[in-house]
Amino acid sequence: MPRQTERLPLASPTPGVARHLMVHRYGAPGGRPKVYIQASLHADEWPGLMAIHHLLPLLDAADAAGEIQGEIIVVPYANPLGMDARYGGGIVGRYAYDGSGNYNRDWADLAPLIAQRLNGPLSGEAEADVERVRGAIRAAVADLPSRTPMMELRRTLMGLSADADHVLDLHCDGEAELHLYANEARRETAMGLAEDLGIEVALLEEEAGGGAFDTAPVELWWRLKEHDVPGAERLPVACFGATVELRGKGDVSDELGARDAAGLLRFLARVGATTPAAADRAGPAPAATPVGYRLDAVDTLNAPVAGLACYLKPLGATVQAGEVVAVVIDPAAEPGAARTEVTTQQTGRLFAFNEHRLVQPGDRIAKVAGREPLSYRKLGALLED
Ligand SMILES: [Zn+2]
Repeated sequence: MPRQTERLPLASPTPGVARHLMVHRYGAPGGRPKVYIQASLHADEWPGLMAIHHLLPLLDAADAAGEIQGEIIVVPYANPLGMDARYGGGIVGRYAYDGSGNYNRDWADLAPLIAQRLNGPLSGEAEADVERVRGAIRAAVADLPSRTPMMELRRTLMGLSADADHVLDLHCDGEAELHLYANEARRETAMGLAEDLGIEVALLEEEAGGGAFDTAPVELWWRLKEHDVPGAERLPVACFGATVELRGKGDVSDELGARDAAGLLRFLARVGATTPAAADRAGPAPAATPVGYRLDAVDTLNAPVAGLACYLKPLGATVQAGEVVAVVIDPAAEPGAARTEVTTQQTGRLFAFNEHRLVQPGDRIAKVAGREPLSYRKLGALLED
């Protein structure tokens, strides 16, 4: 079946303005595995837009060759609300102007809503139970409130994705190497995704907290047992979700987009959404050695004072606990007393910087992934705001 492209209308936010989402569908509706891919939920993060620009022709070719096996849904831009939220020439992108906060936080915990819609105990037969739960997911999402443009956007994106087998949310960091976030429960899939995309830093957690988009359809599979659903403790974790960080905000180019699209196609083949032949068209994965790190072993370095952040090590560097990674230079101080050192508590890999060089006290300026869990990092509160 050729690609079906839909325009899903969104409520008009103001007279004279119409909004819509684009949705590209490949394969048979209801086919499995179902893979959902979206870009730029944080509307100021654009490498995913470029990756999908390059992915669509690859998928069209795979479709023409009869290589689509499951259902693949691609949303090329997930947040038209955020994309036109400009202030003084820049796109704010990460936070909604309506006061509802970070676009990638506080996605609904569907478990209690699903539990209400499951009449009676689960059977213990995994395949049938997964199907039943997915039906309840769809019913629960359809009943989510959509009074405001933000609520409507959330309900629409969840409606497209929450019953999927795989959910990939394409983001980026400020300045960064490729990395991803996923749940420990599906470590093997996460490492496969990392291999396909050439990602060397895979951040894995048991409970990130924060309610990121990609965690909502995953965590419900074990949260159901907290809501008196007999048999829920035997459910598999039937959804893999990942936030894929496609480097930094400035890393938008045809070359990188084509590389990332090829990686996404390899992953689609890996999980059986396409035949293996589709991955052959994408070529071999880049030479990379994916390493899984616990998210609570990521040291997040904050600026201790206001000033200019200046990094002493490049991205990808191996650093030692106690090492000075950056300095913040106070332009109001005498040059001899202007430099405040920023050390890391972790031995590991320096993989992300703040893209802004003028920082305030408390601004997160760098991230180091290491081996040892850090006592100040708390399960359930592992994501930045
Ligand atoms: Zn983001």
